[in-house]
Amino acid sequence: MTALLEVEDLRVAYGKIEAVKGISFTVEAGQIVTLIGTNGAGKTTTLRTLSGLLKPAGGRVVFDGKPLTDVPAHKVVSLGLAHSPEGRHIFPRLTITENLQLGAYLRNDKAGIEKDIQRAYDLFPILGERRKQAAGTLSGGEQQMLAMGRALMCQPKLLMLDEPSMGLSPIMMQKIMETIVELKAQGTTILLVEQNAQAALSLADQGHVMEVGKIVLSGTGADLLHDESVRKAYLGED
Ligand code: ATP
Repeated sequence: MTALLEVEDLRVAYGKIEAVKGISFTVEAGQIVTLIGTNGAGKTTTLRTLSGLLKPAGGRVVFDGKPLTDVPAHKVVSLGLAHSPEGRHIFPRLTITENLQLGAYLRNDKAGIEKDIQRAYDLFPILGERRKQAAGTLSGGEQQMLAMGRALMCQPKLLMLDEPSMGLSPIMMQKIMETIVELKAQGTTILLVEQNAQAALSLADQGHVMEVGKIVLSGTGADLLHDESVRKAYLGED
């Protein structure tokens, strides 16, 4: 089986600084794959490059059988790759419904869009309750839900989530993680970047540990969760 996403020897540089130094991994359809690692490891840079927001310095990316090199960001979305960025980037003055509608800007099937807005409300009932409120009035966790809901509005084949647990209370984080598992059950493939290694590895089929621009360890989520070096470095164990 060919993978939905194939990343081969990807390199990304900011000027002379190489932030991603030749990483390779694949994401099979239907899987949750996670990239974990400390601040500055290159995780966000990797996602931004896959989205077409940064130009790679080298390597090859194939998504759904098509090369992604040199495909601009708006085209990447239309190919079925959605990105819920770090820091959320919702539109605070627009209502929750309007934010969700914006996620569907490439679509013109009105009935389908309505159905998917309802699906977002089913996934996150709080968004439905507050649908007419300005998104800026939502809590951090609720804004994260909205960012995920919005990314889903383009019916992506692959959903990339950058640090969805950042700044959330344990209860909110639990909710977000449960939703990720539910999305997988509904058939969405997910590439998850997280600093919370415990949470990410607990639900991932495959995980990759990044350190200073390189993948230093790969395995199933369960294997990495039980790996001694991972436990020491990322799960706070002595
Ligand atoms: P974080 O969780 O903090 O976002 P990360 O693993 O996602 O960490 P990146 O944000 O991808 O890491 O950063 C990788 C490296 O690239 C870091 O050394 C960072 O300082 C550098 N970097 C990131 N963005 C830029 C930029 N716009 N210009 C220059 N260097 C950058």
